[in-house]
Amino acid sequence: MAQQKAEWGNQMKNEGLDDMTLLSKVTNDQILDNLKKRFEKDIIYTNIGDVLISVNPFKFIDGMYSDEVLQEYIGKSRIELPPHVFAVAEQTYRSMINEKENQCVIISGESGAGKTEAAKKIMQYIADVSGERGSSSNKKVEHVKSIILETNPLLEAFGNAKTLRNNNSSRFGKYFEIQFNQSNEPEGGKITNYLLEKSRVVFQLKGERNFHIFYQFCKGATPQEQQEFGIYGPENFAYLTKGDTLDIDGVDDVEEFALTRNAMNVIGIPANEQKQIFKLLAAILWIGNIDFKEQAGDKVTISDTSVLDFVSQLLDVPSHFLKTALEFRQMETRHGNQRGTQYNVPLNKTQAIAGRDALAKAIYDRLFNWLVDRINKEMDNPQKGLMIGVLDIYGFEVFDRNGFEQFCINYVNEKLQQIFIEFTLKMEQEEYVREGIKWEPIPFFDNKIVCELIEGKNPPGIFSILDDVCRAVHSQAEGADQKLLQSIGVCKSNPHFDTRGNAFCVKHYAGDVVYEGPGMIEKNKDTLLKDHLEILQMSANNFLVALFPDVIDTDSKKLPSTAGFKIKSQAADLVATLMKSTPHYIRTIKPNDLKKPNILEGSRVLHQVKYLGLLDNIKVRRAGFAYRSTFERFFQRYYLLSDKTCYAGNNIWKGDALSACRAILASQNVDTTQYQIGKTKIFIRYPEMLFSLEETRERYW
Ligand code: ADP
Ligand code: MG
Repeated sequence: MAQQKAEWGNQMKNEGLDDMTLLSKVTNDQILDNLKKRFEKDIIYTNIGDVLISVNPFKFIDGMYSDEVLQEYIGKSRIELPPHVFAVAEQTYRSMINEKENQCVIISGESGAGKTEAAKKIMQYIADVSGERGSSSNKKVEHVKSIILETNPLLEAFGNAKTLRNNNSSRFGKYFEIQFNQSNEPEGGKITNYLLEKSRVVFQLKGERNFHIFYQFCKGATPQEQQEFGIYGPENFAYLTKGDTLDIDGVDDVEEFALTRNAMNVIGIPANEQKQIFKLLAAILWIGNIDFKEQAGDKVTISDTSVLDFVSQLLDVPSHFLKTALEFRQMETRHGNQRGTQYNVPLNKTQAIAGRDALAKAIYDRLFNWLVDRINKEMDNPQKGLMIGVLDIYGFEVFDRNGFEQFCINYVNEKLQQIFIEFTLKMEQEEYVREGIKWEPIPFFDNKIVCELIEGKNPPGIFSILDDVCRAVHSQAEGADQKLLQSIGVCKSNPHFDTRGNAFCVKHYAGDVVYEGPGMIEKNKDTLLKDHLEILQMSANNFLVALFPDVIDTDSKKLPSTAGFKIKSQAADLVATLMKSTPHYIRTIKPNDLKKPNILEGSRVLHQVKYLGLLDNIKVRRAGFAYRSTFERFFQRYYLLSDKTCYAGNNIWKGDALSACRAILASQNVDTTQYQIGKTKIFIRYPEMLFSLEETRERYW
């Protein structure tokens, strides 16, 4: 650490800049170049003012997160030590204590860029530095701290999977709030989860896996569990083999399973509840093994009734009811507003498979939510003190083909960008006001117009239109996709929207994305089939019944809540929470797609630099004052520059820091329009002035 500090003078030459606000030219290439220089020296962290940029090293860097390093950061300000995730954690925790305000850490970046690892480091740091280390007299604090650390293995088992991009990819977003008591120790917490990718339960791309827990369970179940739940190796289950991948290099699923079980124990999930969880996991796997054979007239029947019987046993529902629910759809005759008689329509093979998969997805989704609620119950804290939240959520996504999922994810990112703009500008402004500094307001792109396009009510935004179409048509068969394309044309009045054949294009703050229309309505609808709900509520298993408290809506005209509606209100809640806290930002970058160390692919990084908006970030920061420092720090760094403050290389100043700063500046003949002196800090407008101070300093050093 000391060595790192001494090397500061060489930074600009060899290691790039700690803070990219000071780049000599603000271009994307310069940003890339700076990050690259640092990456090559295993320096993965860089600041833009208070924003931390982190480039995933894909390797363990010796000493980077050691206890020694952690100790170094305690009580230090962001400018005192090299950029580090611990510095962000420290700043967050310290601001909460000093300002008595809620704080949040917003972590963004694409899949595999290191968001979750960063989130874990933040949590770890806070658990480590808050309260007496390891010896808190408060049992609740110890329990909450251990939950904070153990939720990761547990939620990762159920919510993470191997994907092509990341071997341990989080397939859900989360906001983890830690609640503190009067002594600033964690005494409670709450997790909010977003957008679990439940389609993974039934399908995986080649080279990808289902959620980790399934493989852990299949490989690590006890003989008794094997027997009771019919659990064998993962190769036996259709839902686990779609991606032709059963293992992950360097990961032992049996060992991981032991960690998952341990996490459940630490968190306080009792054996009987654990058993229920495993029983449902088994039910899901066996549902996937239900197959259908076609009969005359497109009808299907379940091929192997012994599989059906076993699923019924696991779900505790009567086998013949389950059979009907999977082979037929219940319909109702209608005469105007009058309810009519019910009758069963046989399903064709495609419909039957879709129905079966919907059932499996619904059970898993509810189980995951139950798990989050269960953890929350364990961390529940009636005393509402100060809070720190950590947001680990998918970054902006653009694939070759983009659908409803990308649309929702990018919408949330659009909302987060709004907060980012507001805060970076607002915070700058507030500091200038506080310090009594004169400054010019900065023009910036306000993405409110894009948010309006997506979530607006009047004129109707894209979500409203999706909901309208959902209400108007009942299935794909009725031309839902067609109808969507007709209706969505009205959005063209917004300059950020256009249609492209079967698709539509949204000009997001981070770039244009073309979304495919077909399938959107189905995904937005996301309703549990009435037939499935009925059968699940029939179960003799109370645990399962409790997962489905839904009221069956007999008035089918009333639209059940759509997926779009849900994400919109979740985003609104999230924004409201974040707006009530002081944000801290971590932008993570993925250096290559091979998931390999020591490789930085310029074009990949450049792409991320662009859509993370780092250039604008620096510009905004520089449009005001690129650099600021307290009088004390400025004086300590530059006392060499003035005869008044320095004698033979030693600091001889006896006066106050402000007068010393004035003396130093006077000695350098700097243009007085280039800086301003505030109440506690000196503000320097352009980095050039700082460069020249640095150069002079090096000459004397
Ligand atoms: P994301 O959550 O953004 O998808 P992760 O945080 O899961 O990405 O990171 C993907 C993988 O990259 C991790 O499993 C780990 O192997 C590696 N990784 C990420 N951050 C770091 C880091 N700071 N140091 C070392 N390896 C890291
Ligand atoms: Mg993640």
